[in-house]
Amino acid sequence: MSIQQQVAAIRQKIDEAARRAGRAPSEVTLEAATKVQSSERIREAIAAGITVCGENRVQEFNAHWADGAYEGAEVHFIGHLQKNKVKYLVGKVSLIESVDSPELLEVIGRRARSLGVRQDILLEVNIGREASKSGVLPENLGQLAALAGATEGVRLRGLMAIPPVEEISGGNSRYFAEMYQLFIDIREKKYDNEVCIDCLSMGMSDDFEEAVAHGSTLVRIGTALFGKRPPMRAQG
Ligand SMILES: *Cc1c(COP(=O)(O)O)cnc(C)c1O
Repeated sequence: MSIQQQVAAIRQKIDEAARRAGRAPSEVTLEAATKVQSSERIREAIAAGITVCGENRVQEFNAHWADGAYEGAEVHFIGHLQKNKVKYLVGKVSLIESVDSPELLEVIGRRARSLGVRQDILLEVNIGREASKSGVLPENLGQLAALAGATEGVRLRGLMAIPPVEEISGGNSRYFAEMYQLFIDIREKKYDNEVCIDCLSMGMSDDFEEAVAHGSTLVRIGTALFGKRPPMRAQG
C-alpha cells in the first residue's frame, strides 16, 4: 500500500476505535513517527493528510528542517532529549513530548525565555517502570508537573508514554488505563502558570486502537505508516 492508502486506513481504524469508545474521532490526532524516513517520504505523508510529524533525533530534525520537509505540518519532538540539544528545538517544534527531569525543564524554560517564546511540553512517564526507558516514574509525576506548571517559558500540555513491548494483543491496556488516570489527576491540579492539559500521547503501530479506547488524544505511528524500519542506530 502507498503512504496515502496507509494514512487513510490508519485514520479509519482510529475513527472506529474512538466511536466504539464513545469518543469523537476529532479528539484523536494521528502523528507520523518519522525516524529514519527521508524528507521525500515525509513530504509524501504530509501530502496524504498528516498534520503532525514526530522526530526522535535532533540531527534528523535539523536536516529535515533545513530541507523544508515539514512544510504544511507541525513537528513534535518525541525522542530522548539531551540538555545541550534543547537549543535546536525550542521555538521550532510545537511540542516537546519527552520532558522527564527538572534539569531538562529548566533548560527548556531558559531557552524559551531568551527567545521570548512559550514552549509547549508533555511529561514522559515511564509507566512500565523499565530500567531501559526514559520517563518520570508515576510516583514522581505530581512533583514534576507542579514544577512544569511553575516554570516560566514552558506550558504544560499533558503526558506521553511508551509502554513495554506488548507480548499479547491487548497486553498494554492496563498501562493505558493507568496513564489515563494520571492524566486526569494532573489535569485537576492547580498550577502557578497557565497550563492547558489536553494532550495524552500514547499508542503506536501495534496498539493504537487500544490506546484510543483508553483516552489517547495523540497516537504516534511509524511502522504501520511507512513500513518496517532498518535496525536502530544509537540515539542522538
Ligand atoms: C518509533 C516511535 C514510535 C512509532 O513506533 P511504531 O511502532 O513504528 O509505530 C512512536 N513513538 C516513539 C517515541 C517512537 O520512537
